[in-house]
Amino acid sequence: MNTLANDRQVAVREVGLRDGIQSLAPLATEQKLEWFRREAAAGVRAFEITSFVPARVIPQFYDAEQVVAGARAKAQSVLSALVLNDKGARRAIDAGVQSITFVVSASATHSGKNARTTPEEALSAVEALIASLAAMSERPQISGAISTAFGCTYEGKVDPGRVLAMAERLAKAGVDEIGLADTVGFAGPRQVHNLFSNLRKAVGNLPITAHFHDTRGMGMANVLAALEAGVRRFDASLGGVGGCPFAPGATGNIATEDLCFLLEEYGLQSGIDLERLLEARRSLTELLPDEPLHGALSRAGIPRPVALQ
Ligand code: ZN
Repeated sequence: MNTLANDRQVAVREVGLRDGIQSLAPLATEQKLEWFRREAAAGVRAFEITSFVPARVIPQFYDAEQVVAGARAKAQSVLSALVLNDKGARRAIDAGVQSITFVVSASATHSGKNARTTPEEALSAVEALIASLAAMSERPQISGAISTAFGCTYEGKVDPGRVLAMAERLAKAGVDEIGLADTVGFAGPRQVHNLFSNLRKAVGNLPITAHFHDTRGMGMANVLAALEAGVRRFDASLGGVGGCPFAPGATGNIATEDLCFLLEEYGLQSGIDLERLLEARRSLTELLPDEPLHGALSRAGIPRPVALQ
């Protein structure tokens, strides 16, 4: 992930090419790279570009290696990939990503369905991975991403104490970043503020990322609550494309363009050109003609005075 140079900077990571497309019919590699290229041209500097999971589980990621290679050749961006186990992590490293998002689920049921593992096994796998990479001169950044951190479709409420204990263990293992994901859109702003405030106390200066879905219209309220709790890294998907195939009822991520607009209004700098980002979003309608896009900024446009007639 980006290193933030000052306290007005904020990091936005596009996850549409991972979270957004995983439940859609597979896109051609060139289509994925075109999406990447257009958004990189708008100033987006961090992408969760793919997922290293078996193609028989999620067919959309049949070309993970080629997507990473193609993206590396096209633009200077921090590329991360999602993995669920050691095998995926090894593939991601061989492919040359700069960052690995290793998902551990706070819900045992979601963990079993999403990764066929228990939360305990997933935590142990992160610890073993980091230990095994100690000898590498330049290992990729490892982000410990706790999914269903705010609730689970199968289990309902998730104990925040359990989430914090997992985060502490990931921090101790040596992750470079902790992420909390509202995988199925259960979170509300008070819960978000409380959990991120407590997470900050639990993990000290370790960078923290927030990953929200707008399933119940709470996405931007949750971003604001996370901002107020000091979070300066956010995941989002252009046009709000997305949804977890193993989380019934989950819909898209918060829309990247709406997130960037809120961050700008809040006085933070993402380095992203909103006008060009909206252009990239318009091109998504050609790439994904059957997929409904979401978000408010694209409907009304960037606010600016209208000339009097
Ligand atoms: Zn997600």
